[in-house]
Amino acid sequence: MTLEAAEAIKRHGVGVKCATITPNKDRIKEYNLKKEWPSPNGTLRAALDGTIFRSPILASNILPTVKSWKKPIHIGRHAYGDQYRNQEIRVEGPGKAELVFSPADGSAPARRLVHEFKGPGIVQGIHNTDDSIRKFAKACFTYALDQKVDLWFSDKDTISKTYDSRFTQIFREEYGNWEQAFEQAHITYFFTLIDDAVARVVRSEGGFLWACKNYDGDVMSDMLGSAYGSLAMMSSVLVSPSGQFEYEAAHGTVQKHYYKHLKGEKTSSNPMALIFAWTGALRKRGEFDKSPDVVAFAHNLEASALGTVESGIMTGDLLKVAVPSPNNRTVYTEEFVDAIADNLRSKLG
Ligand code: NAP
Ligand code: MG
Repeated sequence: MTLEAAEAIKRHGVGVKCATITPNKDRIKEYNLKKEWPSPNGTLRAALDGTIFRSPILASNILPTVKSWKKPIHIGRHAYGDQYRNQEIRVEGPGKAELVFSPADGSAPARRLVHEFKGPGIVQGIHNTDDSIRKFAKACFTYALDQKVDLWFSDKDTISKTYDSRFTQIFREEYGNWEQAFEQAHITYFFTLIDDAVARVVRSEGGFLWACKNYDGDVMSDMLGSAYGSLAMMSSVLVSPSGQFEYEAAHGTVQKHYYKHLKGEKTSSNPMALIFAWTGALRKRGEFDKSPDVVAFAHNLEASALGTVESGIMTGDLLKVAVPSPNNRTVYTEEFVDAIADNLRSKLG
């Protein structure tokens, strides 16, 4: 089913995904599964060869922890290789660790001494491929142009003069293909070292896409997520290098709330990110089809959803982080959706 969904996204150019379960032992028992099926997100990402971008949904009464942030900071994480596909050895005592590459054509191997161990330690081997880095770069340029935001890319090529430098070089080469489109859209491509990027991000107003290597993206996306307020206000889109878009909420199935619901208890689950997944997809499809009514509907739905939160009607997760106001009140999931629908109806007249 997941593979069929990927094929459908390729056909239609756009998809919406609800949160899915990545089964563990408990879930296999709970749902009587034949096996521990792989992560649907991983399967989709592999099938579409895509990169996941996250961006926060900003409401005027949910203030980011960082006061200077006025606009969303979008983040793109390279989801292949580096520490996530490594080999590691625990070194128990003295010895030599070497890096060896043996070319398939039988020519002489390349060899580097990693370290001459005098005592116990650790050693790790990591890799990446030009193909994967280039696809990541393409997806980042596609997304930045789509969102009309500047693109920042950061790594540590002063220290890693071959490995990280290859990332820098591929991004610079790829920029050559986008330079004109970027100029026309009045956006820029900017490279800086990761530590400088972190310092600048914290002082910035936001309003750009930050493209990160795998580990940096893992760490920084959680930092941004929590600094912007709530996991339920984080939207997510998978962009393929050939320009297909799959929209989703960044959060999971909110399992604890579901079990409460099954027991007949009321829940206050926040549907904002899921609503924005739908509006993102509708807007994109509307743009593809040149149908401004669909684009306008997406805009109105977003404005209705934000207007509801800004009027003080919100789910429990938001009340904890909202600017205090006598208008603030927590509502249950269904009441919240009804309030948004009322807002939308009054907008549509
Ligand atoms: P989760 O569903 O994101 O929920 C984690 C916690 O965050 C919730 O218990 C809730 O906190 C809060 N939360 C998240 N979304 C919320 C919302 N919309 N409204 C209100 N609160 C929200 O993560 P999980 O519990 O670790 O994972 C549950 C399942 O989702 C797992 O089976 C996992 O495989 C799957 N998952 C799927 C995706 C995906 O498809 N993209 C992503 C992540 C996880 P409180 O309990 O404190 O209210
Ligand atoms: Mg993480």
